[in-house]
Amino acid sequence: MSSQIIPVDPFDCIIFGGTGDLAERKLLPALYHRQKDGQMTEPTRIIGASRSDLSTNEYRAFAHEALKTHVKDDLDSDEVEKFLGKLDYVSVDVKSERGWDSLGAVLGADTGKKRACYLAVGPSLFGDIATRLRDHGLITPETRIIVEKPIGRDLKSARELNDTLGSVFDEYQTFRIDHYLGKETVQNLMALRFANTLYEPLWNSAHIDHVQITVAEGVGVEGRADYYDKAGALRDMVQNHLLQLLCLVAMEPPSSMDANAVRDEKLKVLRGLEPIDEANVEKLTVRGQYGPGASAGGPVPGYLDEIEGGASNTETFVAVKAEIGNWRWAGVPFYLRTGKRMTTRVSEIVIAFKPVPHSIFGDGAGRLLANNLVIRLQPDEGVKQWIMIKDPGPGGMRLRHVPLDMSFASAFNVRNPDAYERLIMDVIRGNQTLFMRRDEVEAAWRWIDPILSAWEDTGQQCQRYTAGTWGPSASIALIERDGRTWHESV
Ligand code: NAP
Repeated sequence: MSSQIIPVDPFDCIIFGGTGDLAERKLLPALYHRQKDGQMTEPTRIIGASRSDLSTNEYRAFAHEALKTHVKDDLDSDEVEKFLGKLDYVSVDVKSERGWDSLGAVLGADTGKKRACYLAVGPSLFGDIATRLRDHGLITPETRIIVEKPIGRDLKSARELNDTLGSVFDEYQTFRIDHYLGKETVQNLMALRFANTLYEPLWNSAHIDHVQITVAEGVGVEGRADYYDKAGALRDMVQNHLLQLLCLVAMEPPSSMDANAVRDEKLKVLRGLEPIDEANVEKLTVRGQYGPGASAGGPVPGYLDEIEGGASNTETFVAVKAEIGNWRWAGVPFYLRTGKRMTTRVSEIVIAFKPVPHSIFGDGAGRLLANNLVIRLQPDEGVKQWIMIKDPGPGGMRLRHVPLDMSFASAFNVRNPDAYERLIMDVIRGNQTLFMRRDEVEAAWRWIDPILSAWEDTGQQCQRYTAGTWGPSASIALIERDGRTWHESV
């Protein structure tokens, strides 16, 4: 069985930062796949725009290299030719007037065609791009703008950025990407919850003991040390990705998949998060920073060896015990953790159901383990429901904990599309369900800001962990104090 591809209207996608890392690794490969699957219609164009002085042919050669490096399956040479033929390039300096008239000339006068402006550049350039697009008359009613994280570094700067974008674009035209929401498994979480009667009656504090959300990276800060040292794991990962996942787990059933219906429910979750501040920050959060250690490739340096100056209290790991103050979730902790240079790269959500109240099986049957629902976002996207069964055979009543594997991509024999493929097509369709609304971003900062201030005010230091481990021992203590353990994410 293959998935159904619904073509989208022809569009022009302008990638500001078309020569950057995001364009090379994610956007161009994603657009190629959409074309190969027949989702793009003629006359669609992809226009790279950045300062580098490239001809269109040179940009096509850059894109060709990007596809050769980053498209995992075999490249189909006819499709590659067709794709490269859609590419154009304009040299634009978004901080000056250079190149904007040429961009206008390439776009032409067709105001009815869908136009997506992808801002694959640093956020300090968002304002320049928005205002120059307006001043050069390049915004049509069919124009949308796509922005990447980071959207601010606190509530104040997020508001300023949103105000700047909002002074040029309506909210319906503004697509704030959190690529975690474009992952198949994340959308499957919504299908599991709201397209089945099985889970929803159990989805509350009466039946769920706790929830864990882990986003672990194997890599260190790599080439991003400068940005990262000013951000840290709480801003870089928790404010967006982990809180968005928490919202999808915790939200009430929306009345439909309409963008605002879903986002209204997510917003209520964010607003319901119990505050963490000076009074409880030490008890509920752990900050860590990796020291030297080892990864699969051999020894690796510590964080302080990778940044300029060699001194920093920026966290590369954070664990938080969050709670949501509402009827559904009162008393159910959401343990969040994310870090760099961890044992392995894995992102997963674990819904830990309560254990059975009483075992009828006696000691010989073995321990009755809880029914964890494990939703894995990467690698190997999939869903596993752990259940207890009888060990097969005549050996008596011994029980075993086994996973029911609901890994849909392999079941349907389809390629698991990258999140950007789905999200860019949603932009063209004008569907904002999987994008963050302004008030969501700001509500997330409203919860994060007091944690940042409390760390600052209480002088909470990062605890050192060895690169290649699961973070500082205080993170294990955070959950084990409550009689629980982190799910073994291997
Ligand atoms: P990058 O590799 O540094 O690329 C930046 C791009 O911006 C380059 O194409 C650069 O090209 C262009 N640029 C810089 N100044 C410009 C100017 N004045 N006018 C026009 N173009 C200009 O950065 P990136 O990693 O692709 O990241 C881009 C944005 O996406 C950042 O906000 C980042 O935080 C976010 N993001 C990236 C990733 C990722 O995987 N890379 C993931 C999530 C979010 P020229 O030098 O030719 O001008």
